[in-house]
Amino acid sequence: MTSIFRFTFSNLEEQYTAAIEAGYHFITCEQYALNKEQLHPFTVVNRVDIDFSCKKAGRLLELFEGLGLKATFFVRLHAPEYNPFSFENYRILKDIRDRGHEIGYHSEIVDQAAIWKEDAAECLIRDLATLNGMLDIQVKGVASHGGMTGLNNLDFWENRTAKEFGLLYEAYDKSPDFNLFQESFYVSDSEWTRWKCYDKGELREGDSRSFAEHLEDKHPLIYLLIHPDTYFDKHFHE
Ligand SMILES: [Zn+2]
Repeated sequence: MTSIFRFTFSNLEEQYTAAIEAGYHFITCEQYALNKEQLHPFTVVNRVDIDFSCKKAGRLLELFEGLGLKATFFVRLHAPEYNPFSFENYRILKDIRDRGHEIGYHSEIVDQAAIWKEDAAECLIRDLATLNGMLDIQVKGVASHGGMTGLNNLDFWENRTAKEFGLLYEAYDKSPDFNLFQESFYVSDSEWTRWKCYDKGELREGDSRSFAEHLEDKHPLIYLLIHPDTYFDKHFHE
């Protein structure tokens, strides 16, 4: 039975399937950073920001595994909404790692610096070491979380580079080594009940077509950002 709601896991799965059928090849942010000069002619960089729910990230993991896709999952360390080290969440994060997906850090270091009166760079270094130690990984990338503090976590990167922190990229990095947002067609579910898109860094005002609805335009490089929290089986409040 088809749901009257758009943001169901099954609808999302259909969208991914449509992209595979249209010839798209899915890669992680790290794979993009390492191979940006030799991409498949139709590539989707598959990014997942775990804003509120690791449990739903586990659901997405199953969806990706069923379709044979890889993604980058960005994890928060200070969210009031989830503890990455809780019994179930840590199990899910390890599962994401063990199945060969990338884990990145979803940064709130500008918020941390303001709230705790600490240095943002020191917060970043500590957080990267914590996430690396926790999962026995080497985090390669950071994506800045857009939270409710009124501060912009992306501001940190205005006069700093990912390399300075031993990273390959920041997800909106404009350096020529990455520059994904500026070079791609970006589509995101970040308005919860509506998709939005940017064409090579420029907002396409009023274009709320879904990921799958953009496939007919045959953009060679799509930067897809989704949030596990947005999706549900039957209804949003389940
Ligand atoms: Zn976020």
